[in-house]
Amino acid sequence: MPARCVPAERRRRPGATIAPPPNRANDPAPIVRHFGPHPNTPNTMNTPTKLDCGHAPDPGSPANVNGKTVMGWTSVLRDGKHICHTCDNARILSCGHHPSPHSNFTTGTARTPDGREICWTCADAEQVAALLDRKPTGGYLSGDGQTVTTWTGGTLGRVTWSRPCTLSRMSYTHDRKGYRSVNVRDVHGNYWTGRGSPGVCIRLRPMKAPK
Ligand SMILES: [Zn+2]
Ligand SMILES: [Zn+2]
Repeated sequence: MPARCVPAERRRRPGATIAPPPNRANDPAPIVRHFGPHPNTPNTMNTPTKLDCGHAPDPGSPANVNGKTVMGWTSVLRDGKHICHTCDNARILSCGHHPSPHSNFTTGTARTPDGREICWTCADAEQVAALLDRKPTGGYLSGDGQTVTTWTGGTLGRVTWSRPCTLSRMSYTHDRKGYRSVNVRDVHGNYWTGRGSPGVCIRLRPMKAPK
C-alpha cells in the first residue's frame, strides 16, 4: 500500500527524538507501510453537551487550510465514543507513548498494518527500519527536492541524482515543471529510485547502487 498523502504537518516536530520505545522487546519488527484513515470525524452538528469521557466538548480552534479559516475538530470519535482531546492525548498507545503533539486535523498517531496504533516518533523509526526490507515504499520529496522524508518529517534519505522528466498525463498533484526522476540514498546507504515533484509523496523502488 502506498503511503497516504497527508500534506499537513510534515515539518519535524521541534525537539522530537527517535528513542526506542519501551515495550517492543518481543515485537517482530512490524512495518509501517501506510497510515490509516483519520479516526476523527467532524462533528459540529450534533455535539453533545457532555462527552463520553465526562468532559465538555472541546471548543475547536480555527486553522488556516488552503487560505480558508476552518474550525478544527471539537471532539474525538474513538471506538464509537466521543472524548475530548485532553483525554485522547492522555491515552497510552501500543508503543507505550502518548500521541505525538498534533494539530486539530491530525491524530498524532499512526496505524500499523498489524493493527497497532503508535506515536509519530515510533512510526518514523519503524519506517526507517522498514527500508532495510528493500520493498517499494512511499516518502515525501522535500520542497527543495533534496531529501525524502516520512510524512511527519523524519529523514529517510537524500537525493543523489535527479533529472526532469515528462509527465505522461494530466495530474493535480504534480506539475510539469517540477516533475522529475530521482535516485535516493537512504539513511542505511541503500539506493532507491522514483518519480515525483518536490513537496508531494513519491513511490520509491529499490535499485542497485549507481556506478
Ligand atoms: Zn475528556
Ligand atoms: Zn511511540
